[in-house]
Amino acid sequence: MTAIDRLLGHNHASAAQLQPRHLDVMPALRIAIVTCMDSRLDVFSALGLIGGEAHIIRNAGGVVTDDVIRSLAISQRRLGTREIMLIHHTDCGMQLVSDDSFRAELQADTGMAPAFAIESFTDLDADVLQSIERVRRSPFIPHRDAVRGFVYDVDTCRLREVGQALGGAPA
Ligand SMILES: [Zn+2]
Repeated sequence: MTAIDRLLGHNHASAAQLQPRHLDVMPALRIAIVTCMDSRLDVFSALGLIGGEAHIIRNAGGVVTDDVIRSLAISQRRLGTREIMLIHHTDCGMQLVSDDSFRAELQADTGMAPAFAIESFTDLDADVLQSIERVRRSPFIPHRDAVRGFVYDVDTCRLREVGQALGGAPA
């Protein structure tokens, strides 16, 4: 049995217990959360969220890439969100690679250098601040006056605030 088969079994069992309902496509808390794909970071339980409340945008590292900007632009311009929460975490896999070595590995294995940036980092706090700055400077995101960045400790499950961009976009 594959992991997918196992998860499908869970879905059949849990859906059978639920009453069908329809939640609004607009997140009720009007917030978008950008975070890492890390398996230990259960965003819903860590923040006490339930379905229908927030957009969750995830990738390796919780990095603010062009595609994250794309999702945030849709989130704010079409789906009504106003606040942005950026969450990195301790013991992140992105701290185990370096841009140069991973790029070289991909090129050596495939004969092709990737078009994307690897976006590894060593300093968690600095990368959170970098992410805030990327959001703050994006003209595609209309609401940039409530952007806050955090580091989640995967051992204690606590969030620590690193920085915020209150007061709007830079001049
Ligand atoms: Zn991570």
